[in-house]
This record gives sequence, structure tokens and C-alpha cells, in this order.
Amino acid sequence: MKGRAKILGYWVDNTLSFSQAVDYIASQGGQVITINPEMIMEAERDPIFSRIVKNARTVVPDGVGIQLGLWILGYKSQRIAGVELGKALIEKFSKYNKTIAMIGAKPEVIKLAVEKIKEEFPNANIVYSHDGYFDDEDKIIDEVVNAHPDLVLTALGSPKQEFFNCLLLQKLPKSVMIGLGGSFDVWAGTVERAPEIYQKLGLEWLYRTIKEPERFKRIFPTLPLFVLKVFKEELKGYIK
Ligand code: UDP
Repeated sequence: MKGRAKILGYWVDNTLSFSQAVDYIASQGGQVITINPEMIMEAERDPIFSRIVKNARTVVPDGVGIQLGLWILGYKSQRIAGVELGKALIEKFSKYNKTIAMIGAKPEVIKLAVEKIKEEFPNANIVYSHDGYFDDEDKIIDEVVNAHPDLVLTALGSPKQEFFNCLLLQKLPKSVMIGLGGSFDVWAGTVERAPEIYQKLGLEWLYRTIKEPERFKRIFPTLPLFVLKVFKEELKGYIK
């Protein structure tokens, strides 16, 4: 049984270990969200995105920001990085001869990412791939549906990838859909992952912000505002 924590009205599957998350997702299907504070703050602004996050079958805590929020509310949680979860799902689905689609990133990046995945998982049955810069979303959705993938990995950035996955899920209700942000760039080798020490300390965001200073705008003021909101929620519990 999986347990869930509620943070600012959003359920997060905080008790799943990494391997339990992989098994759970593979057995349950549906939309998977790798949640972070920026996504929760975006959901607070956008009621449709909020509904998508609330209706997702599995929501895993991706990163130290969400872990901090959960900790303030008294919950423990693992960090489950989308970039690792995506690969573990590919491995699992390939083992059972299931089909895979990959949509997102720049044309040269998706091409390289597919090649690298095939090298690493020779059994991976990638039945569809497309870059993430398309105008005709309906056409791409039709193409994916025709390919009938069991696992769909989208890397379009958030919330675009969650909207896309939600639409696609209506047409492929038995498949797994997961949004993976910048993971294809990492798999392709065009963007480096932070060194292990940063990953262990939960400071991957710091490394990425140093490498790409424009990311600073995304974290600040969003992260402090998120923490403040969570504190307010926690205090409400005491004041009642
Ligand atoms: N991207 C895309 N289509 C778009 C916008 C972005 O395919 O219209 C891709 C982009 O090339 C990158 C990923 O989406 O591969 C987003 O990466 P980012 O680092 O912004 O995502 P994060 O991991 O921070 O959510």
C-alpha cells in the first residue's frame, strides 16, 4: 500500500521508495507527475493545471524543495529524480517487451537521446519519437495514439508536458505518461548532470543554476514563497 501526504491541497506519494515507485507506476498506469515547488505554485495560479496535478495517478517528489515542504508539514520523503525514474521505467517496460514513445527536446537532442537509450537498453522498443517543437499538437497526438505505446515519456518542460500527457491519456487510458523536463538533454549528453556530491546533498538545483544563471528567475522568488505558504498552512493547524 502506498501512503500519501497532502501539501497545499496536492497529494504526493511520499512513502514510495524508488523501486516501489517504478513497480507501482508500471502496475497502475496513468499519468505520473514528478512534482516540484514551481509546479505547485503554477497549479495555484492555473486551475486546469491544478486539476491535472490533483487527478494524476502517481505524484513523486522530485527534488529537495518539495522534500523541504513535506518536512515542514511533518512528512518524511524520498527524492525521486525524474531523470532516473524515466530510465528505470524504460528498463522495466523493455524487460516485458512493452512499447515506448519519446516526445520532446530539440530535434538533434531527441535523435541522440533515442540512440543513447537504444545503446543502453538494446531491448527497448521505441515505436515513436518526435522533437518537442511542433505547432500541430493534434497531429502529434494522433501519431502517438496510432503507435500504441505502453509508456510515453515527454520532455517539453512543465506545465506543457503535463497538459500534453493529460490529453493523450484520454486516448490511451491504459498507458503510462510521464513528464521528464530536461531529461532528454541529459540522456543525449548535451547537458551534464550535476556531479554526484551535488545530487547526494540535494543541491542539483544549485549546480544547474550556476551553470545556467537564467534559471535563477525560476527558483526565486517561487521557492521562498512556496516555503512561506507551507509554513502558513502548518501554522493554521495550530491556530484552529
Ligand atoms: N522543450 C520542448 N518544447 C518546448 C519547450 C521546451 O521540447 O516547447 C524542451 C527543452 O528543449 C528541454 C525541456 O523541454 O529539453 C525542458 O527543459 P527544462 O530544463 O526547462 O525543464 P525542467 O527540467 O527544468 O522542467
